[in-house]
Amino acid sequence: MCNFQHGTIECRGDGYCWDANCDGYDPNDHSLPCPACNTKGWLEQQKEEAETCISFSGIDSGTGVDIWESAVRVAQRENPEGVEALLLEIGEVNALYEDDQGQTQTKRFSYPGQGMSVLADSLLSQTPGAVPMIFDVGPSYNECIIAPSGSGMSGQFDKLAK
Ligand SMILES: [Zn+2]
Repeated sequence: MCNFQHGTIECRGDGYCWDANCDGYDPNDHSLPCPACNTKGWLEQQKEEAETCISFSGIDSGTGVDIWESAVRVAQRENPEGVEALLLEIGEVNALYEDDQGQTQTKRFSYPGQGMSVLADSLLSQTPGAVPMIFDVGPSYNECIIAPSGSGMSGQFDKLAK
């Protein structure tokens, strides 16, 4: 049984959430995928939002880029084991934002790797089994390559594992 809860939003147990402030829910309402037990549905829905919404405002405000970054953050918190594989399945997200001139711009999040920095791409191609990841590091994000253990790329950690 899934225990996901965020404010009044709770998992119904069927992979979707409902707002417990409401009187009830329609079992056919699939508008809120659960980030914990339906992480794929959650990421797919948020990708859709991030790619179609330049900015939003409400309790929070932000851009399509913010939508996607926070969606990944939630997914990493709720489903740390599954999130990497799901991001690889999703492949690419072109999140929207508005620049200083008010022009719509796209920020590309790519899984796995193609289109990442030149350094990340070259490390990936040289390291069989390496897994690319994009880490959220506050206001910005950071690309990183996870090398397989024993590949010699993670020096001291390889030694510890023996
Ligand atoms: Zn759930």
